[in-house]
Amino acid sequence: MAQLIDGKAFAASLRNDIAEEVAKLHQQGITPGLAVILVGEDPASQVYVRNKGKQTIEVGMSSFVHKLPESTSQTDLLALINKLNNDNSVQGILVQIPLPDHIDADTVINAIDPRKDVDGFHPVNVGRFSTGGNGTIPCTPLGCLMLLKDQLGDLSGARALVLGRSNIVGKPMSTLLLNENCTVTTAHSRTKDLQEECRRADILIVAVGRPEMVKGSWIKPGATVIDVGINRIEQDSGKARLVGDVQFSSAAEVAGAITPVPGGVGPMTIACLLLNTLTAALRQNDLPIPT
Ligand code: NDP
Repeated sequence: MAQLIDGKAFAASLRNDIAEEVAKLHQQGITPGLAVILVGEDPASQVYVRNKGKQTIEVGMSSFVHKLPESTSQTDLLALINKLNNDNSVQGILVQIPLPDHIDADTVINAIDPRKDVDGFHPVNVGRFSTGGNGTIPCTPLGCLMLLKDQLGDLSGARALVLGRSNIVGKPMSTLLLNENCTVTTAHSRTKDLQEECRRADILIVAVGRPEMVKGSWIKPGATVIDVGINRIEQDSGKARLVGDVQFSSAAEVAGAITPVPGGVGPMTIACLLLNTLTAALRQNDLPIPT
């Protein structure tokens, strides 16, 4: 059976480290602040925003949650972002996605001051990070990379396959692995011989949003599998069950190590959001970033 990669425990330890750094900042009179904006009533987004706010406070940062009605105009949302860009008590700004249809997500992301863009979605950060500079790295791929390096150490030369090419997970994940000197393949819905491509990978990262799509027979024996997917499956009992994009039962029989869902990548995403907020606060105060 594959070794379990415990993202929950890793995230808890990362939050402890962040809390220690925040305590040092308090001694210098600095309290990092994270502003989260939620537009509308999407139930999953409400849970994410609540968890983000709670964990922000737990590490000693200030949390500013702005809940706006579904009917909020783009102009009003942009005005709030502008206000937060100029607010010295706020070092990080996150706009919860998805946004209602009448609001253009790109326009909103472009309005955030890149120094405060803790999601790493602003084109300035995407550009810096893609060209090897110090742009903010999107939280979910950053969390995946931390788990991989903790499990495998040096990733240099490993053959990695990233299944999915979204701007928030797949593409930045491929870039990160390339920066770690992996040989990277990015697969997507038009990829031919997908199963064969997957079977060649020493490292398999799956972010497709298709419940349990990747089976054990797609996995190279001994490979390290990171399952980013979070899919809510309704059961006969009426209760929902969370599953990943990988069929855990069959995959765990073949893989060398695998993340569970829940308890794998999910907790790492919020911990990395706090890490990015800490980094933003240090940069904005011209302080060194701990390695
Ligand atoms: P998107 O829907 O934006 O992207 C999905 C990607 O998967 C696309 O590139 C698509 O290809 C590809 N894809 C879809 N179906 C297939 C298929 N049958 N075969 C091959 N490729 C396919 O999703 P996200 O990247 O936003 O999210 C992916 C998953 O990760 C979701 O389950 C989401 O809930 C989860 N997630 C989890 C997070 C966490 O914190 N753990 C954070 C963010 C997301 P194409 O481009 O060709 O359409």
